[in-house]
Amino acid sequence: MPSTLPYRGRLAPSPTGYLHLGHARTFWIAAERARAAQGALVLRSEDLDAIRFRLDFADAMLEDLRWIGLEWQEGPDVGGPYGPYRQSERRGFYRAALEQFHAAGLIFPCTRSRRDVLEAIGAPHEQPGADDEPVYPREFRPPAGTALPPLGETISVNWRFRVPDDLRIDFTDGSAGRQSAISGRDFGDFLIWRKDDVPSYQLACVVDDAAMAITEVVRGADLIKSTFRQILLHRALGKTVPAFFHCPLMNDDRGERLAKRHDALSLRTLRQRGVAPEEIRAKYLTADFAEGRG
Ligand code: GLU
Repeated sequence: MPSTLPYRGRLAPSPTGYLHLGHARTFWIAAERARAAQGALVLRSEDLDAIRFRLDFADAMLEDLRWIGLEWQEGPDVGGPYGPYRQSERRGFYRAALEQFHAAGLIFPCTRSRRDVLEAIGAPHEQPGADDEPVYPREFRPPAGTALPPLGETISVNWRFRVPDDLRIDFTDGSAGRQSAISGRDFGDFLIWRKDDVPSYQLACVVDDAAMAITEVVRGADLIKSTFRQILLHRALGKTVPAFFHCPLMNDDRGERLAKRHDALSLRTLRQRGVAPEEIRAKYLTADFAEGRG
């Protein structure tokens, strides 16, 4: 049971751009929860997609988080017993999990494009704002028990996790309450490793949360659907599923998601405009914390 273990939380930012107030708010809540539980907070840089991510964002990310007043006990800049804390330096862990899934026949290679998948489910055009994987059609997967080709040293095909048919998955979220989804219907076979030889977010996140002994995952509510996939991966790896706390997403005064207006309300921009961290904390980070409201 996670509750009997010493609390370990994490901040898992991706250096895709400058962090904005929505990130800061979620991270603040994560830090508060770790502090309240007298636990440890880990900073993990989710920088796997080295081509898309620029190094200057990785440095800026840590700097901006410190500027706003966040502290962590383990991370790329301070070290710690569960390192390395940059995903780009942890490929060996992900590859080991991939091999475990391969040996157990839990994954399959997939040569279908995203367009093939969208067409097969009758949605040839991407829904505007859709930021989730479309449900993979069952007819695309090889029959159960089909012998798998070897993984090979370099991966050049997408590998997907075969989700159980019609399995109900439940969890109780610390903020959002009871959550439930049916695998194969609400979400389908999902990406584990990409054909450009990069592990998927789902795989890397689960492998790291398990390896870093994370007891509670605090993150934005946009990732609730990913949690069902991740629960399946934790189980497949024989790991304890952590607790989850998905924070409501923050909207701006026009009701638009902050993530969509990345630069306008980035911590960096606010800082350059001379806004003090105390002011940001009072106005955006600590207000309404107890209810976890956005
Ligand atoms: N790196 C992810 C992001 O910045 C968050 C992953 C997580 O918290 O599980 O969106």
